[in-house]
Amino acid sequence: MKKIILSFAAIITALSASAQYYQDEANKDMLHIRQPRTEQRTEFVVPSIDGYTAYKSDLHNHTIFSDGHLSMEARIREAWLDGLDVVAVTEHLEHRPQEKNLVKYLKGYTPDGTEAQNYEFVSKNRPASGKDIKVDLNLPVEVARKEAEKYDITIIPGIEITRRESDEYSHFNALFTSNNNTIYAPETAQSLRNAKAQNALVMHNHPGWTHKDMKLTPFEKEVYKEGLIDGIEVMNSAEFYPQAITRAEKYNLFLSSNSDIHYPSSSVYSNFDEQRNMTIIFAKDKSLASLREAIEAHRTISYSYGTVVGSEELLRKLFLASVSVRKTIVDYKGRTHYIITNNSSISWLLRRDGNDLIELKGNSSILDRMSSSRSNFYTVVNAWYGEDKHLVVDLFGEKK
Ligand SMILES: [Zn+2]
Ligand SMILES: [Zn+2]
Repeated sequence: MKKIILSFAAIITALSASAQYYQDEANKDMLHIRQPRTEQRTEFVVPSIDGYTAYKSDLHNHTIFSDGHLSMEARIREAWLDGLDVVAVTEHLEHRPQEKNLVKYLKGYTPDGTEAQNYEFVSKNRPASGKDIKVDLNLPVEVARKEAEKYDITIIPGIEITRRESDEYSHFNALFTSNNNTIYAPETAQSLRNAKAQNALVMHNHPGWTHKDMKLTPFEKEVYKEGLIDGIEVMNSAEFYPQAITRAEKYNLFLSSNSDIHYPSSSVYSNFDEQRNMTIIFAKDKSLASLREAIEAHRTISYSYGTVVGSEELLRKLFLASVSVRKTIVDYKGRTHYIITNNSSISWLLRRDGNDLIELKGNSSILDRMSSSRSNFYTVVNAWYGEDKHLVVDLFGEKK
Protein backbone atom coordinates (compact mmCIF):
# COMPACT_ATOMS: atom_id res chain seq x y z
CA MET A 1 0.00 0.00 0.00
CA LYS A 2 2.82 2.35 0.94
CA LYS A 3 4.37 1.66 -2.43
CA ILE A 4 1.16 2.66 -4.22
CA ILE A 5 0.91 5.92 -2.26
CA LEU A 6 4.53 6.68 -3.06
CA SER A 7 4.12 6.13 -6.79
CA PHE A 8 0.90 8.20 -6.74
CA ALA A 9 2.87 11.03 -5.17
CA ALA A 10 5.52 10.61 -7.81
CA ILE A 11 2.91 10.98 -10.57
CA ILE A 12 1.51 14.17 -8.95
CA THR A 13 5.02 15.62 -8.75
CA ALA A 14 5.70 14.74 -12.36
CA LEU A 15 2.43 16.30 -13.50
CA SER A 16 2.97 19.55 -11.67
CA ALA A 17 6.53 19.74 -12.97
CA SER A 18 5.33 19.37 -16.56
CA ALA A 19 2.38 21.74 -16.19
CA GLN A 20 2.55 24.58 -18.70
CA TYR A 21 0.29 26.93 -16.76
CA TYR A 22 1.77 29.85 -14.95
CA GLN A 23 0.39 33.00 -13.48
CA ASP A 24 0.82 36.33 -15.12
CA GLU A 25 2.71 38.71 -12.84
CA ALA A 26 0.72 41.78 -13.81
CA ASN A 27 -2.68 40.09 -13.80
CA LYS A 28 -2.94 37.28 -11.26
CA ASP A 29 -6.30 36.24 -12.70
CA MET A 30 -4.73 35.45 -16.06
CA LEU A 31 -2.97 32.17 -16.74
CA HIS A 32 -0.62 31.56 -19.62
CA ILE A 33 -1.19 28.10 -21.03
CA ARG A 34 2.38 27.78 -22.27
CA GLN A 35 5.62 29.67 -22.09
CA PRO A 36 5.54 32.45 -24.64
CA ARG A 37 7.76 31.64 -27.58
CA THR A 38 9.89 34.07 -29.50
CA GLU A 39 9.68 33.78 -33.27
CA GLN A 40 12.70 31.88 -34.54
CA ARG A 41 14.77 32.61 -37.59
CA THR A 42 15.93 29.49 -39.37
CA GLU A 43 19.68 29.76 -39.87
CA PHE A 44 20.59 28.02 -43.09
CA VAL A 45 24.30 27.33 -42.74
CA VAL A 46 26.51 27.70 -45.80
CA PRO A 47 30.29 27.83 -45.31
CA SER A 48 32.49 30.69 -46.52
CA ILE A 49 34.57 30.16 -49.64
CA ASP A 50 37.95 31.82 -50.31
CA GLY A 51 37.25 34.26 -47.48
CA TYR A 52 33.89 35.29 -48.95
CA THR A 53 30.83 34.97 -46.71
CA ALA A 54 27.72 33.22 -48.03
CA TYR A 55 24.85 35.72 -48.03
CA LYS A 56 21.44 34.25 -48.66
CA SER A 57 19.25 36.35 -50.90
CA ASP A 58 15.91 36.35 -52.65
CA LEU A 59 16.16 38.56 -55.72
CA HIS A 60 12.53 38.25 -56.80
CA ASN A 61 9.31 38.61 -54.79
CA HIS A 62 6.14 40.69 -54.67
CA THR A 63 4.04 42.64 -52.18
CA ILE A 64 0.85 44.71 -52.27
CA PHE A 65 2.88 47.35 -54.13
CA SER A 66 2.23 45.21 -57.24
CA ASP A 67 0.26 41.93 -57.25
CA GLY A 68 1.52 40.29 -54.04
CA HIS A 69 -0.66 39.59 -51.02
CA LEU A 70 1.59 40.76 -48.20
CA SER A 71 2.64 44.18 -47.05
CA MET A 72 6.29 45.06 -47.56
CA GLU A 73 6.76 45.01 -43.78
CA ALA A 74 5.45 41.44 -43.57
CA ARG A 75 7.58 40.41 -46.54
CA ILE A 76 10.75 41.69 -44.87
CA ARG A 77 10.00 40.08 -41.51
CA GLU A 78 9.25 36.82 -43.29
CA ALA A 79 12.57 37.03 -45.16
CA TRP A 80 14.37 37.38 -41.86
CA LEU A 81 12.52 34.40 -40.38
CA ASP A 82 13.37 32.41 -43.54
CA GLY A 83 17.09 32.98 -42.88
CA LEU A 84 17.74 35.54 -45.62
CA ASP A 85 20.35 38.32 -45.42
CA VAL A 86 19.52 40.14 -48.64
CA VAL A 87 16.22 40.92 -50.37
CA ALA A 88 15.65 42.64 -53.70
CA VAL A 89 12.55 44.79 -54.14
CA THR A 90 11.10 43.73 -57.49
CA GLU A 91 7.53 44.92 -57.89
CA HIS A 92 6.03 44.74 -61.35
CA LEU A 93 6.58 47.96 -63.25
CA GLU A 94 3.43 47.78 -65.36
CA HIS A 95 1.19 45.31 -63.51
CA ARG A 96 -0.03 46.54 -60.14
CA PRO A 97 -3.62 45.46 -59.59
CA GLN A 98 -3.39 45.94 -55.82
CA GLU A 99 -2.92 49.66 -56.37
CA LYS A 100 -6.30 49.81 -58.13
CA ASN A 101 -7.81 47.67 -55.37
CA LEU A 102 -6.41 50.04 -52.77
CA VAL A 103 -7.88 53.08 -54.50
CA LYS A 104 -11.23 51.33 -54.85
CA TYR A 105 -11.11 50.32 -51.21
CA LEU A 106 -10.21 53.79 -50.00
CA LYS A 107 -12.87 55.36 -52.25
CA GLY A 108 -15.44 53.14 -50.67
CA TYR A 109 -14.42 54.31 -47.23
CA THR A 110 -14.43 58.08 -47.76
CA PRO A 111 -17.61 59.63 -46.37
CA ASP A 112 -18.67 61.23 -49.68
CA GLY A 113 -17.39 58.42 -51.94
CA THR A 114 -14.93 60.72 -53.75
CA GLU A 115 -11.37 59.61 -54.50
CA ALA A 116 -9.58 58.99 -51.25
CA GLN A 117 -7.29 61.75 -50.01
CA ASN A 118 -4.84 59.13 -48.81
CA TYR A 119 -4.15 58.15 -52.37
CA GLU A 120 -2.53 61.51 -53.07
CA PHE A 121 0.51 60.86 -50.94
CA VAL A 122 1.62 58.02 -53.17
CA SER A 123 0.73 59.96 -56.32
CA LYS A 124 2.97 63.00 -55.85
CA ASN A 125 5.95 61.86 -57.86
CA ARG A 126 4.31 60.74 -61.06
CA PRO A 127 6.78 59.64 -63.69
CA ALA A 128 6.71 61.49 -66.97
CA SER A 129 5.81 58.44 -69.05
CA GLY A 130 3.70 55.32 -68.64
CA LYS A 131 -0.01 56.06 -68.84
CA ASP A 132 -1.02 53.66 -66.08
CA ILE A 133 1.79 54.57 -63.74
CA LYS A 134 0.53 57.00 -61.18
CA VAL A 135 2.66 56.18 -58.18
CA ASP A 136 6.19 56.77 -56.99
CA LEU A 137 7.90 53.51 -57.96
CA ASN A 138 10.73 54.16 -55.51
CA LEU A 139 8.33 54.08 -52.58
CA PRO A 140 8.43 50.26 -52.15
CA VAL A 141 12.23 50.47 -51.94
CA GLU A 142 12.05 53.20 -49.31
CA VAL A 143 9.54 51.25 -47.22
CA ALA A 144 11.61 48.08 -47.54
CA ARG A 145 14.85 49.82 -46.56
CA LYS A 146 13.32 51.35 -43.47
CA GLU A 147 11.89 48.03 -42.32
CA ALA A 148 14.98 46.00 -43.24
CA GLU A 149 17.22 48.06 -40.95
CA LYS A 150 15.54 46.38 -37.97
CA TYR A 151 16.59 42.95 -39.16
CA ASP A 152 19.97 43.93 -40.56
CA ILE A 153 18.84 42.86 -44.01
CA THR A 154 20.30 44.51 -47.11
CA ILE A 155 17.78 45.76 -49.66
CA ILE A 156 18.72 45.69 -53.33
CA PRO A 157 16.57 48.27 -55.11
CA GLY A 158 14.92 46.99 -58.26
CA ILE A 159 11.81 46.52 -60.34
CA GLU A 160 10.35 43.82 -62.59
CA ILE A 161 9.83 44.84 -66.21
CA THR A 162 6.79 42.77 -67.11
CA ARG A 163 5.92 42.49 -70.80
CA ARG A 164 4.58 40.20 -73.45
CA GLU A 165 6.63 40.16 -76.65
CA SER A 166 6.74 37.68 -79.56
CA ASP A 167 3.56 36.14 -78.09
CA GLU A 168 5.30 35.13 -74.85
CA TYR A 169 5.76 36.70 -71.45
CA SER A 170 9.25 38.11 -71.10
CA HIS A 171 9.97 39.45 -67.64
CA PHE A 172 13.19 41.05 -66.45
CA ASN A 173 14.34 42.20 -63.04
CA ALA A 174 16.33 45.39 -63.10
CA LEU A 175 18.53 45.13 -59.97
CA PHE A 176 20.58 47.88 -58.31
CA THR A 177 18.38 50.56 -59.87
CA SER A 178 18.82 54.15 -58.76
CA ASN A 179 15.45 55.53 -59.91
CA ASN A 180 12.56 53.21 -60.74
CA ASN A 181 10.54 56.13 -62.10
CA THR A 182 12.75 56.58 -65.16
CA ILE A 183 12.77 52.97 -66.41
CA TYR A 184 9.41 52.74 -68.14
CA ALA A 185 9.29 53.13 -71.93
CA PRO A 186 6.54 51.93 -74.28
CA GLU A 187 9.12 49.77 -76.07
CA THR A 188 10.32 46.88 -73.88
CA ALA A 189 13.92 46.93 -75.12
CA GLN A 190 14.06 50.66 -74.37
CA SER A 191 12.93 49.94 -70.79
CA LEU A 192 15.89 47.55 -70.48
CA ARG A 193 18.20 50.20 -71.94
CA ASN A 194 16.84 52.74 -69.47
CA ALA A 195 17.66 50.32 -66.64
CA LYS A 196 21.18 49.77 -67.99
CA ALA A 197 21.61 53.55 -68.35
CA GLN A 198 21.29 53.85 -64.57
CA ASN A 199 23.83 51.07 -64.16
CA ALA A 200 21.32 48.38 -63.19
CA LEU A 201 21.94 44.66 -63.73
CA VAL A 202 19.21 43.06 -65.82
CA MET A 203 18.14 39.49 -65.07
CA HIS A 204 15.92 37.41 -67.35
CA ASN A 205 13.21 35.97 -65.08
CA HIS A 206 11.60 32.52 -65.31
CA PRO A 207 12.93 32.05 -68.87
CA GLY A 208 10.82 28.94 -69.52
CA TRP A 209 7.58 30.10 -67.98
CA THR A 210 4.69 30.13 -70.53
CA HIS A 211 7.25 29.26 -73.24
CA LYS A 212 6.64 26.03 -75.16
CA ASP A 213 10.37 25.29 -75.06
CA MET A 214 13.62 26.91 -73.93
CA LYS A 215 14.40 28.53 -77.30
CA LEU A 216 14.74 32.29 -77.17
CA THR A 217 11.80 34.13 -78.75
CA PRO A 218 12.71 36.54 -81.60
CA PHE A 219 12.36 39.46 -79.15
CA GLU A 220 14.56 37.79 -76.53
CA LYS A 221 17.18 36.98 -79.15
CA GLU A 222 17.41 40.69 -79.96
CA VAL A 223 17.88 41.87 -76.37
CA TYR A 224 20.41 39.12 -75.64
CA LYS A 225 22.36 40.05 -78.78
CA GLU A 226 22.31 43.71 -77.80
CA GLY A 227 23.99 42.77 -74.51
CA LEU A 228 21.12 43.98 -72.33
CA ILE A 229 20.99 40.83 -70.19
CA ASP A 230 23.39 40.24 -67.26
CA GLY A 231 21.80 37.32 -65.44
CA ILE A 232 19.20 34.56 -65.63
CA GLU A 233 16.91 32.74 -63.23
CA VAL A 234 17.94 29.11 -63.51
CA MET A 235 15.28 28.42 -60.89
CA ASN A 236 12.06 30.27 -60.14
CA SER A 237 9.84 28.88 -57.37
CA ALA A 238 9.62 25.12 -58.13
CA GLU A 239 10.67 25.51 -61.79
CA PHE A 240 14.21 24.55 -62.81
CA TYR A 241 15.53 25.31 -66.29
CA PRO A 242 18.76 23.31 -66.81
CA GLN A 243 19.18 24.79 -70.30
CA ALA A 244 19.54 28.22 -68.69
CA ILE A 245 23.00 27.06 -67.51
CA THR A 246 24.11 26.60 -71.13
CA ARG A 247 22.64 29.96 -72.02
CA ALA A 248 24.44 31.58 -69.10
CA GLU A 249 27.75 30.18 -70.39
CA LYS A 250 27.04 31.44 -73.91
CA TYR A 251 26.05 34.98 -72.90
CA ASN A 252 28.23 35.27 -69.78
CA LEU A 253 25.33 35.61 -67.32
CA PHE A 254 25.11 35.24 -63.57
CA LEU A 255 22.82 32.46 -62.29
CA SER A 256 20.06 33.06 -59.80
CA SER A 257 17.29 31.17 -57.99
CA ASN A 258 14.37 33.04 -56.46
CA SER A 259 10.98 32.49 -54.90
CA ASP A 260 8.90 35.00 -56.95
CA ILE A 261 6.46 34.65 -54.07
CA HIS A 262 3.17 36.50 -54.11
CA TYR A 263 1.58 34.68 -51.14
CA PRO A 264 3.25 34.10 -47.76
CA SER A 265 6.43 32.05 -48.18
CA SER A 266 5.21 29.57 -45.56
CA SER A 267 2.48 28.46 -47.96
CA VAL A 268 5.07 26.90 -50.28
CA TYR A 269 8.17 26.45 -48.10
CA SER A 270 8.17 26.22 -44.31
CA ASN A 271 4.75 24.53 -44.14
CA PHE A 272 6.40 21.69 -46.06
CA ASP A 273 9.69 21.93 -44.12
CA GLU A 274 11.40 23.33 -47.20
CA GLN A 275 14.00 26.06 -47.25
CA ARG A 276 13.01 28.99 -49.43
CA ASN A 277 14.60 29.43 -52.87
CA MET A 278 17.81 31.41 -52.55
CA THR A 279 20.58 32.94 -54.53
CA ILE A 280 23.58 32.39 -52.28
CA ILE A 281 26.00 35.24 -52.93
CA PHE A 282 29.65 34.86 -51.87
CA ALA A 283 30.71 38.40 -51.01
CA LYS A 284 33.22 40.29 -48.88
CA ASP A 285 30.38 41.84 -46.87
CA LYS A 286 26.71 42.57 -47.48
CA SER A 287 27.04 46.15 -48.64
CA LEU A 288 25.45 46.88 -52.01
CA ALA A 289 28.87 47.41 -53.58
CA SER A 290 30.22 44.07 -52.36
CA LEU A 291 27.08 42.16 -53.30
CA ARG A 292 27.16 43.65 -56.75
CA GLU A 293 30.85 42.82 -57.15
CA ALA A 294 30.11 39.21 -56.19
CA ILE A 295 27.15 38.89 -58.56
CA GLU A 296 29.15 40.39 -61.44
CA ALA A 297 31.98 37.98 -60.68
CA HIS A 298 29.35 35.19 -60.86
CA ARG A 299 30.05 33.99 -57.31
CA THR A 300 26.48 32.74 -56.84
CA ILE A 301 24.99 29.37 -56.02
CA SER A 302 21.34 28.87 -56.86
CA TYR A 303 19.32 26.81 -54.39
CA SER A 304 15.81 25.41 -54.84
CA TYR A 305 14.19 22.45 -53.06
CA GLY A 306 17.49 20.79 -52.26
CA THR A 307 19.03 21.23 -55.73
CA VAL A 308 22.05 23.50 -56.18
CA VAL A 309 23.39 25.05 -59.37
CA GLY A 310 26.63 26.94 -59.96
CA SER A 311 29.95 26.79 -61.74
CA GLU A 312 31.86 23.55 -61.31
CA GLU A 313 34.63 25.36 -59.45
CA LEU A 314 32.31 27.07 -56.99
CA LEU A 315 30.27 23.92 -56.37
CA ARG A 316 33.45 21.95 -55.68
CA LYS A 317 34.69 24.56 -53.22
CA LEU A 318 31.29 24.67 -51.54
CA PHE A 319 31.10 20.91 -51.23
CA LEU A 320 34.64 20.54 -49.91
CA ALA A 321 34.11 23.39 -47.43
CA SER A 322 30.91 21.70 -46.22
CA VAL A 323 32.05 18.10 -45.94
CA SER A 324 34.83 16.62 -43.86
CA VAL A 325 36.05 13.03 -43.80
CA ARG A 326 37.61 11.14 -40.93
CA LYS A 327 39.15 7.71 -41.33
CA THR A 328 38.43 5.33 -38.44
CA ILE A 329 39.25 1.62 -38.69
CA VAL A 330 40.26 -0.96 -41.27
CA ASP A 331 38.07 -4.00 -40.64
CA TYR A 332 38.89 -7.71 -41.01
CA LYS A 333 37.78 -7.60 -44.67
CA GLY A 334 40.30 -4.87 -45.36
CA ARG A 335 37.63 -2.20 -45.79
CA THR A 336 38.43 1.27 -44.54
CA HIS A 337 35.66 2.92 -42.52
CA TYR A 338 35.03 6.62 -42.71
CA ILE A 339 32.85 9.15 -40.94
CA ILE A 340 31.67 11.72 -43.46
CA THR A 341 30.36 14.90 -41.83
CA ASN A 342 28.31 17.61 -43.48
CA ASN A 343 28.64 20.93 -41.66
CA SER A 344 26.33 22.84 -43.99
CA SER A 345 22.53 22.90 -44.11
CA ILE A 346 22.57 21.71 -47.73
CA SER A 347 21.80 18.00 -48.07
CA TRP A 348 24.03 16.20 -50.54
CA LEU A 349 22.86 13.29 -52.65
CA LEU A 350 25.88 11.12 -53.39
CA ARG A 351 26.09 8.30 -55.88
CA ARG A 352 29.09 5.97 -55.91
CA ASP A 353 29.90 3.29 -58.47
CA GLY A 354 26.84 4.30 -60.43
CA ASN A 355 24.40 2.60 -58.11
CA ASP A 356 24.13 3.24 -54.42
CA LEU A 357 22.60 6.61 -53.61
CA ILE A 358 23.56 8.03 -50.25
CA GLU A 359 21.85 11.00 -48.67
CA LEU A 360 24.21 13.07 -46.58
CA LYS A 361 21.70 15.30 -44.84
CA GLY A 362 22.40 18.84 -43.71
CA ASN A 363 24.29 19.10 -40.40
CA SER A 364 24.78 15.36 -40.03
CA SER A 365 27.29 12.55 -40.40
CA ILE A 366 27.21 9.17 -42.06
CA LEU A 367 29.41 6.11 -41.85
CA ASP A 368 30.77 4.75 -45.08
CA ARG A 369 33.27 2.04 -45.82
CA MET A 370 35.45 1.56 -48.80
CA SER A 371 37.12 -1.56 -50.14
CA SER A 372 40.21 -0.96 -52.25
CA SER A 373 38.40 -2.34 -55.31
CA ARG A 374 35.75 0.37 -55.26
CA SER A 375 35.81 3.77 -56.86
CA ASN A 376 36.68 6.77 -54.75
CA PHE A 377 34.51 9.02 -56.87
CA TYR A 378 31.16 10.29 -55.76
CA THR A 379 28.74 11.99 -58.10
CA VAL A 380 26.90 14.74 -56.25
CA VAL A 381 23.56 14.17 -57.93
CA ASN A 382 21.85 17.32 -56.64
CA ALA A 383 24.74 19.64 -57.68
CA TRP A 384 24.43 20.81 -61.28
CA TYR A 385 26.97 22.79 -63.28
CA GLY A 386 25.59 22.01 -66.75
CA GLU A 387 22.46 20.78 -68.45
CA ASP A 388 23.19 17.26 -67.30
CA LYS A 389 26.51 17.72 -65.58
CA HIS A 390 26.86 16.92 -61.92
CA LEU A 391 29.75 17.57 -59.62
CA VAL A 392 32.08 14.59 -59.20
CA VAL A 393 34.33 14.52 -56.16
CA ASP A 394 37.15 12.24 -55.09
CA LEU A 395 36.07 12.52 -51.49
CA PHE A 396 38.99 10.62 -50.00
CA GLY A 397 41.57 12.09 -52.34
CA GLU A 398 40.53 15.72 -52.02
CA LYS A 399 39.75 15.60 -48.31
CA LYS A 400 42.69 14.41 -46.33
ZN1 LIG B 1 7.52 37.62 -63.73
ZN1 LIG C 1 7.67 38.30 -60.48
